[in-house]
Amino acid sequence: MWQAEAVVDLGAVAGNVAHLRGLTRAEVMAVVKADGYGHGAVPVARAALRGGATWLGVATLDEAYELRGAGIDAPMLAWLVTPGTPLAGAVRRDIDLSAATVGQLDEVADAGRREGRAARVHLKIDTGLGRGGATPQHWPDLVTAAAKAQADGAVEVVGTWSHLACADEPGHPSVDRQLAAFSDALAVAERAGLRPAYRHLANSAGLLSRPDTHFDLVRAGISTYGLSPIAGWPAAAALVPAMTLRARILVTKRVPAGQGVSYGLTYTTPRETTLAVVPLGYADGIPRAASNAGPVLVGGARHTIAGRVCMDQFVVDAGDDPVADGDVAVLFGPGTDGEPTADDWAAVLSTISYEVVSRIGPRARRVYVGAPDTDPAA
Ligand SMILES: *Cc1c(COP(=O)(O)O)cnc(C)c1O
Repeated sequence: MWQAEAVVDLGAVAGNVAHLRGLTRAEVMAVVKADGYGHGAVPVARAALRGGATWLGVATLDEAYELRGAGIDAPMLAWLVTPGTPLAGAVRRDIDLSAATVGQLDEVADAGRREGRAARVHLKIDTGLGRGGATPQHWPDLVTAAAKAQADGAVEVVGTWSHLACADEPGHPSVDRQLAAFSDALAVAERAGLRPAYRHLANSAGLLSRPDTHFDLVRAGISTYGLSPIAGWPAAAALVPAMTLRARILVTKRVPAGQGVSYGLTYTTPRETTLAVVPLGYADGIPRAASNAGPVLVGGARHTIAGRVCMDQFVVDAGDDPVADGDVAVLFGPGTDGEPTADDWAAVLSTISYEVVSRIGPRARRVYVGAPDTDPAA
């Protein structure tokens, strides 16, 4: 008997990637960091590849090793590696690494020499995000060092890349500035003798809204999972949210008006009503900030969390709707059966859907549907 589960529709993932592929001539990298934005990295990666992705992107090496360990051999880039991390295992497993400083490049080249093969590297330029990446001042030194390491056979420069700051705000002037800085950086690299096969800049927002940011490869994260980084954007309308989070109601009870609910008694029933206790809490990624705010489908209608979200449970005031012990409460899903969406939760919490889905913890077991291996009849 299940208690709480995140049902992940892998058919939706594959379909989303197929839709994204139709929007661009570039190759699609499905970004499956943070355990596939909470959906499960390995099953999502397989579904995304089935949908036409040709690359996988992750943050950490452990994430890359998990995918390789599962037998996934697609081209893969890991971009968040702390200096001093042993890299030979990454080179051996054909995991592409990012370098934004000469020091990082040296570490990658050393690993290549140690393994007796060219380590695959993507050079990162900061075009304006102000996070990772070489500044334009340091970029010439980086590409010069990379060209030399490539001539020595220690590295293969597979890509040059950068990341957008505001592509989720269509018309934001920073996108044009970042594009211009990226073009300048590519020209500098070319003068150093580097013409990498993969120039990549776009995230989901760039993919959906700015074809001029696509270059050779787009890095699609949130859109792979069927969520749009830009509210109401037409090209995102065909995306199908892949995760449905639901739980079985522990207990329901009829209470009179004036009943205080949950820690601090911050909610008091305004009239006689039915309370339903749901076994998910902030330890499962339901933010405490959703207290008296989070929307939940219970008893056939949307209701609001009553009182504080606890570590393992919260309470819904279901009014007079028919709801019984063991009934299913749906926190969010694609929105097609009256349930809230991750975007609805994000709006209530003043955050983004990325945070809503990626924080769902392991006590909500992951259940996969919509893939050939999960559904033999499909
Ligand atoms: C997470 C991430 C992405 C994916 O961004 P989305 O907005 O989810 O598409 C792309 N590139 C980098 C470097 C990232 O860290």
